[in-house]
Amino acid sequence: MSNLDLFLEMEQGAQLPAVPRIAEIGTRVALPPSRLPGLDFALNPYQGCQHDCLYCYAPYVTKRPRARWTEVRARTDLPQVLAKELRGKKGVIGLGTVTDPYQEAERHLLITRRCLMQIIPHDQPVSVLTKSDLVLRDLELYRELKGEVGLTVTSVRRDLSREYEPGAPLPERRLRALEQLVEGGINAYGLVGPLLPLLDQRDAEELVDALAGTGIEWIMLDRFRPRAGMFQDMRTRPGGEGSADHLEKAHLHCDYRALEAYIRRRCAERGVRCVDAF
Ligand code: SF4
Repeated sequence: MSNLDLFLEMEQGAQLPAVPRIAEIGTRVALPPSRLPGLDFALNPYQGCQHDCLYCYAPYVTKRPRARWTEVRARTDLPQVLAKELRGKKGVIGLGTVTDPYQEAERHLLITRRCLMQIIPHDQPVSVLTKSDLVLRDLELYRELKGEVGLTVTSVRRDLSREYEPGAPLPERRLRALEQLVEGGINAYGLVGPLLPLLDQRDAEELVDALAGTGIEWIMLDRFRPRAGMFQDMRTRPGGEGSADHLEKAHLHCDYRALEAYIRRRCAERGVRCVDAF
């Protein structure tokens, strides 16, 4: 992020970036098998995530305490371990299946970037998912790789993004990144996931319009599936009670079928393919 971007985000009410707490950890296996459809292997340069989305499933899947999710651990030796493992493996590599590979730590540590450089000579497809426009830094590398680049955009509303994704770049930055990826010839898509029950029909249609406006040809849609303990954990954050109440109530009363139907219909109208996630 440039100083100007940082200044603009501060002007827009963004939280100041937290002082990163990053510990190094060693890598035992670089490419464990992935259980996600369409992916053969998982590649995760980081444990924990500075984007700090309130609805994040990953702490519950990885059994890390939610309150310590933003304490990032970096696998700084991952590129070297990956280089050895790549020799014997073929298949689609899911980059960032658990945590965001372009969270702020990556700007300084370049682990994701160094992994991509290892993968390129092996011609293995990579499927990456992020909420950060930092992915644009590696656009030239993605040009040399097969696969796809996904940007998660859950809403175009800044208020929702600030409240529920406090450490992630604002939606307009992600949309701009999608546009630039498409212009750069990358197979890029938008993930609407989780589909927040806080959206109404107008929000849903505006979201599809904004995604379609980037030039992408497809979006992936994933329904919100709160994990046990998630709302309680939200309530323990400073000021988190209101956010938890708001989201939990919306979840209990949401007609997800109708919300998904608005998205699908608008996608059809805009000529964008809509596929279900996982
Ligand atoms: S970007 Fe993804 S991994 Fe990071 S906090 Fe948000 S949902 Fe979790």
